[in-house]
Amino acid sequence: MRNWHDHIKRHLLIWSGVALFGFLIGQLLWALLILAIIYTLRNYYQLHRFTLWLNSDQRKQPSEPPESYGIWGDIYDGIYRLQKQERSSSAHLENIINKAQESSAALEMAVIMINQHDNLDWWNKAAEKLLGFKFPQDKNQSINNLIRNPKFHDYFYNENYAEALVMEAPGDANKVLEFQIALFGEHERLMIVRDITQLQRLARMRKDFVANVSHELGTPITVIKGYLEAIIDNQDSLDKKWHKPMQQMRQQSMRMENIVRDLLLLSSLETKTPPRNRQEINTTALVREIENDTRQMFTDKSHTIRIDCASDAVISGKRNELYSAVSNLVVNAAKYTPANGEITVRTYFTDESFIIAVSDNGIGIEAHHIPRLTERFYRVDVSRSSDSGGTGLGLAIVKHILARHDAELVIESQYGKGSEFRCEFPLARVSKVDQAIAADNQSAETAAAR
Ligand code: ADP
Repeated sequence: MRNWHDHIKRHLLIWSGVALFGFLIGQLLWALLILAIIYTLRNYYQLHRFTLWLNSDQRKQPSEPPESYGIWGDIYDGIYRLQKQERSSSAHLENIINKAQESSAALEMAVIMINQHDNLDWWNKAAEKLLGFKFPQDKNQSINNLIRNPKFHDYFYNENYAEALVMEAPGDANKVLEFQIALFGEHERLMIVRDITQLQRLARMRKDFVANVSHELGTPITVIKGYLEAIIDNQDSLDKKWHKPMQQMRQQSMRMENIVRDLLLLSSLETKTPPRNRQEINTTALVREIENDTRQMFTDKSHTIRIDCASDAVISGKRNELYSAVSNLVVNAAKYTPANGEITVRTYFTDESFIIAVSDNGIGIEAHHIPRLTERFYRVDVSRSSDSGGTGLGLAIVKHILARHDAELVIESQYGKGSEFRCEFPLARVSKVDQAIAADNQSAETAAAR
């Protein structure tokens, strides 16, 4: 602002000086005209220098502005300062980008940026190794042309990225990759790919080891238990002091048998893929059968077991697996509810799911145990569980079976008051009995019409 005042003062001085000079020599108009022409020419000249300077490639070869004074000097200085600021912030940005690229190049996992048109924007070195991308040929290529796998295609477009996709590497069936996508910006995607071949191999080895050990232990335990049973059946011929140890040995061998049975079941659930040929399971009939079997197991406890099946729903899945899951819950309810307790098994529909709920008014579970209940061998009270023949594997089995039926286990409990275990099935897995009958009738009619 101060400069402007000086400029205006200086110009007023020049104009008034020239006007006075013109007046004195009697040529006022000519003097002013000549000064105006000089000003215009000078401004044209400055504009010309200015455009020349701006058009010189300032990015590649930044040059100082031409020497100038007055208002033009201020303009040059201002623009030069802005250019310098812009140069330093873009150098800073370049530095950050270089560092990000260098660090991602050092990563073992592939990092890929995909634009809103599903084309490759940028990727790191590991992406070239894991997925075979080539620079620069694959830049702007569609990701779906480069990874041609229906599983990847579904994962990419379903946009349900909460879980990672695990599949074999393109062009290398021996390699297992894990894909994880995150959306950002204007529907762009950041994709992280990890090689998990080794991890998968270790997990498989662990599962095989548990399955083999359980299998190998099965026969010795059966033999030991068989002999113990035979000895106990003839215990009259045995010294009295051996009666108690024999009973305890039989009890422990039964426990071992239960653990081996549950471990074998768990490992078969983990290794076998869910069966394709599903059965239609009438849930009311299933619940009644389980109630009957449990009642016979716990006659001494005289529980009241209520059944409230609001709708005759049919789940498509595997009957023996579902029997095992629901039975585990009902047996647990009976085990962990003191004599004369109440157990209720309810089945009902909500807007999003079909539920099989097993509730009891038993001992309940403290809140901090609940998230860990489905871990293998996790027991709230080890001695109580062992006394009642528990293995600590029951709820892990339930969780696995439900996952194979696209269902979830929800646990709610209040310590000292009771618990509720809910199996929540998606509606896509369930139909109502009358609909099933209608469908059967219709297919029978169609068959007859043929
Ligand atoms: P376990 O064979 O020991 O019963 P589970 O996996 O079936 O093993 O259950 C894990 C633990 O959860 C049990 O040890 C028990 O402490 C607790 N639990 C399961 N069901 C109930 C229930 N209905 N009421 C109270 N505690 C329960």
